[in-house]
Amino acid sequence: VNDFVPFNRYTNSPVANYKGSLFNLPFNMNTFHQLWGVKTPSEAKNIIEEQSKKHQTKKPQNLEEQALSLVGEDIYYKLIKGYTEKQWGRKATELPAFIIKRLPVRFTFDNNYFNDSYQGIPIGGYNELTGGLLEGIDVQLGVNYFKDKVALDGMAHKTVFTGKIDEYYGYEFGKLEYRGLRFAHEVLDIENFQGNAVINYTAVEIPYTRILEHKHFEFGQQKKTVITKEFPLEASTELEPYYPINNDKNNSKYLKYKNKASKDLVIFGGRLAEYKYYDMHQVIGAALAKTKKLFDN
Ligand code: UDP
Repeated sequence: VNDFVPFNRYTNSPVANYKGSLFNLPFNMNTFHQLWGVKTPSEAKNIIEEQSKKHQTKKPQNLEEQALSLVGEDIYYKLIKGYTEKQWGRKATELPAFIIKRLPVRFTFDNNYFNDSYQGIPIGGYNELTGGLLEGIDVQLGVNYFKDKVALDGMAHKTVFTGKIDEYYGYEFGKLEYRGLRFAHEVLDIENFQGNAVINYTAVEIPYTRILEHKHFEFGQQKKTVITKEFPLEASTELEPYYPINNDKNNSKYLKYKNKASKDLVIFGGRLAEYKYYDMHQVIGAALAKTKKLFDN
């Protein structure tokens, strides 16, 4: 991707606001100090062990059990439960455990949200990347693929479909559920609203999950600032879907679609077509792997 656009040195280090108190994320020594005043890893480990040992009786069956057995009660109730239930619109006991496994727990003073060696935001934004990828390629917007499928498929040797896989197959095995988002943007006449790109609001009483302040992704020096509140909601047929809801019910439906797709000439890719909670780098990896397979055959 660096062939298309250089990346800056942005490091994601969200801060959580729980009822007015601030905590560093992901869960690390800074968070443990803010929660309990502890200063050493062994003090922090003792508290987490004390709070989590009674939850470690069996293999975690859902997100709540997974989180309680991993980080204990204080962290779960202050920093995970409210955020998770808002984000997914479901009880944490009805959500799969793997969602929370993406968050690291560290006994070092390290607020980097990710463990990857390389991290950054494309300089000038993701439009630079998509612009680079599409250079020299004809693009038509505002086209309903399903209305004109035969003619559109006829234009190409291969079709890559990145929309909802259940819609592609006319919902024949039933609808898959997706979570959507409403973004509320505001331009403020101040230079710096929150001092960080991302602040999560982890209490269930606040209807949005996080506030983004865009200039901090790019170290902007503008006199004004733009913020966005993210309100999660259930995606419907009309609302744009963002996240697959990978619980057992949806996953077993998806397997039926996947089986059908494996016999199809169309290539399915991305969060909606593979019904998978992909991160950006995983999407790029999956696309490269698929392309390689295609050209090698
Ligand atoms: N999460 C949480 N508290 C937080 C941030 C994340 O409990 O303050 C959990 C929550 O279950 C969420 C998951 O971690 O669904 C992944 O969140 P993240 O913000 O990393 O996902 P993104 O929306 O950026 O893909």
